[in-house]
Amino acid sequence: MKLTVWTYEGPPHVGAMRVATAMKGLHYVLHAPQGDTYADLLFTMIERRNHRPPVTYTTFEGRDLGEDTAGIFKKTCQEAYDRFRPQALIVGASCTAELIQDDPGGLAETMDIPVPVVALELPSYQRKENFGTDETFYQLVKALAGPVEKTPEVTANLIGPLALGFRHRDDIEEVKGLLYEMGIGINVVAPFDATPQDMTRLGAAHVNILMYPEHAETAARHMERTLGIPYTKTVPIGVGATHDFVAEVARICGVQPKKDLSRLRQPWWSKSVDSTYLTGKRVFLFGDATHVTTAARIARDEMGFEVVGLGCYNREFARSVRALGKEFGVEALITDDYLEVEKAIEDAAPEMILGTQMERHIGKRLGIPCAVISAPVHVQDFPARYSPQMGWEGANVIFDTWIHPLVMGLEEHLLAMFREDFEFHDEAGPSHHGGHAPKPVGAEQAGLAADAEAGAEVRISGKMKDAEEEVPTGTGSDVMVWLADAERELKKIPFFVRGKAKRNTEKFAAERGVTEISVDTLYEAKAHFAR
Ligand code: SF4
Repeated sequence: MKLTVWTYEGPPHVGAMRVATAMKGLHYVLHAPQGDTYADLLFTMIERRNHRPPVTYTTFEGRDLGEDTAGIFKKTCQEAYDRFRPQALIVGASCTAELIQDDPGGLAETMDIPVPVVALELPSYQRKENFGTDETFYQLVKALAGPVEKTPEVTANLIGPLALGFRHRDDIEEVKGLLYEMGIGINVVAPFDATPQDMTRLGAAHVNILMYPEHAETAARHMERTLGIPYTKTVPIGVGATHDFVAEVARICGVQPKKDLSRLRQPWWSKSVDSTYLTGKRVFLFGDATHVTTAARIARDEMGFEVVGLGCYNREFARSVRALGKEFGVEALITDDYLEVEKAIEDAAPEMILGTQMERHIGKRLGIPCAVISAPVHVQDFPARYSPQMGWEGANVIFDTWIHPLVMGLEEHLLAMFREDFEFHDEAGPSHHGGHAPKPVGAEQAGLAADAEAGAEVRISGKMKDAEEEVPTGTGSDVMVWLADAERELKKIPFFVRGKAKRNTEKFAAERGVTEISVDTLYEAKAHFAR
């Protein structure tokens, strides 16, 4: 048992639903208890699809359990086929149905359904949503895609984009554009908008573009093994990665790596003088492995940020994300526990978080700006406008998105210089966050300023006590005392870096057994960490 309030991923059958909903002419019969239809809302509300997912639930109730639940499954399966007449069916169980062990695959086999029926074995108690997408797509490819003649011209399959994918809709257009510029046509895009019939033609392509390893790597490997189709390893998110991607595709397909960079604005935007203040901004990255890996490279090489922490929630990619952490000199955080993520962010005290919907909430609580780079995402990240992450236009979109939550350069100076100003005081926060400005890092100490001004010694770390009670007994941060002048000096540091300065100073003091922090300690610590 594990106490959980938020989960980064749903159960694996939601992954299977994402594949089914992305496709056309496929139907999913899901053995599931009454109430599991909640998952429909993910597609009709968050992604704003104009139709229900092609899923029929057996919707068994408590009173059915003593009776023939297998019979209910077979009846539902037949009715779904008769009603929707799909080109293929997938059948499987949700978490509760897994426990009653009716074996949907075996049951469907005993029926006379005249189209391919693909049985899904999704271990709901060990695996999660991304496993569900990858496994479902793999099983469909295995069942449907056989050897066929290659197209005479060079063509590619785009594999991985699916329903409820973060910017998948627009990434497809970007990647198609990149390939088009090299004279490479599209054979099949799957699962997004593909039919089971389309999937029988997968083998005709010369290359598989693996857009999202989380969702299609197993299928890509399978097609490489059985159909001899090589697949790309570079995900074209970011300028550098897109250049590498074009080179990789050109090499695999034996074509010229042609590029039309006329729409690419990100490199100049990032080099222009207004972006100077972005240099060295400390960022923390968290999300799915693919988006974190690509974002880390953009952050360091294309924006000039300093990556102070990174991690992913999908354990399938733990090894590569750990290696990425090493490359960036940080220890990668592999967890699906948002409390651990929150703790790591708090410890790293970044100036910006690049994460998921969860990290937006964490950022809000800690008063740290956040931009979304990865699923899980909420409705605002399925925008009406064109907003890819991949390719040249994706780089433009990423630049704007990441910059937006940050305080602008000029305002950053004003906030630092006019701390007492009615408009730019610490607690006003950045102007573009309006009345909902996050509480600045260190704002919990704001109320103590008055005491500090009065010359009293105040404890600003750990629990508040009366000044007379102060009897430091150890050397940890919880017993640290900030002298009034040091407290005043600390407040001169702009709020977005103050948290980090405070922690560094306390760490420096604790390591030296110092329990009272003076202005000298503050500056010694500053000099120490600047070395
Ligand atoms: S079967 Fe799984 S997804 Fe459905 S309600 Fe139960 S735990 Fe949730």
